[in-house]
Amino acid sequence: MTFSVAIDGPSGAGKSTIARAVARRTGALYLDTGAMYRAVGLYALERGVDPADAEKVAALAPDADVKVGYEAGLQRVYLGGRDVSEEIRRPEVSAAASKVSAVPEVRVRMVEMQRAIAKGHSVVMDGRDIGTCVLPDATLKVFLVAAPAVRAARRFRELRSVGAPDTYLEVLEAILKRDRDDSTRAASPLRKAEDAVEVDASDLTADEAVREVLKLLSGRIGPVAPEGGEAR
Ligand code: C5P
Repeated sequence: MTFSVAIDGPSGAGKSTIARAVARRTGALYLDTGAMYRAVGLYALERGVDPADAEKVAALAPDADVKVGYEAGLQRVYLGGRDVSEEIRRPEVSAAASKVSAVPEVRVRMVEMQRAIAKGHSVVMDGRDIGTCVLPDATLKVFLVAAPAVRAARRFRELRSVGAPDTYLEVLEAILKRDRDDSTRAASPLRKAEDAVEVDASDLTADEAVREVLKLLSGRIGPVAPEGGEAR
């Protein structure tokens, strides 16, 4: 029997860490949908198109050759055949992704690809619109939240570990702006699906949050993962 888990929520709540671990523990395919919007954002930047110019982004969307693959079980994202999995993590690409993702033409293409990737597999997907749009019949929908200060502190540590110069306040401001943009846009805004379970990860370790999601999934489909194992 296949199942699908949708994990939505604001930036930096830990969706990808938790979704990846849940997928690994259950043998499901993991799809980080944000990476796909990031690749489109990078494409706009590389083509010299302002990511906020919806008309130009819509015109460019069909040319963005975004593909997802898996190497040693890890998701990689390709743009025009080039592996951009690391490049898309840059802060300016985050901001561009948030802007291009508001363009309906971009969303239609990405959602189509996401559904095609999920077809026939058990899947754990994380994003903003998985429970509300991409997988409306998901076996389990989780809306993962965490206090902005907790999310900013986590992002700040990640950025510092790769030598980025951003200050904590800059990171916090960027997160709050992205939250605002993601939840106020007209096309598939970030919101909790009616049948989603809200999990607040502010005071949870990654392992605790993973256990919580696995427990919720077991409640739907029976035992899903052996005990033990760490979230990575
Ligand atoms: O999750 P991540 O931060 O990598 O996503 C980058 C951006 O892509 C988000 O700020 C959001 O605007 C957009 N996104 C989206 N729908 C998704 C996943 C991401 O609009 N399913």
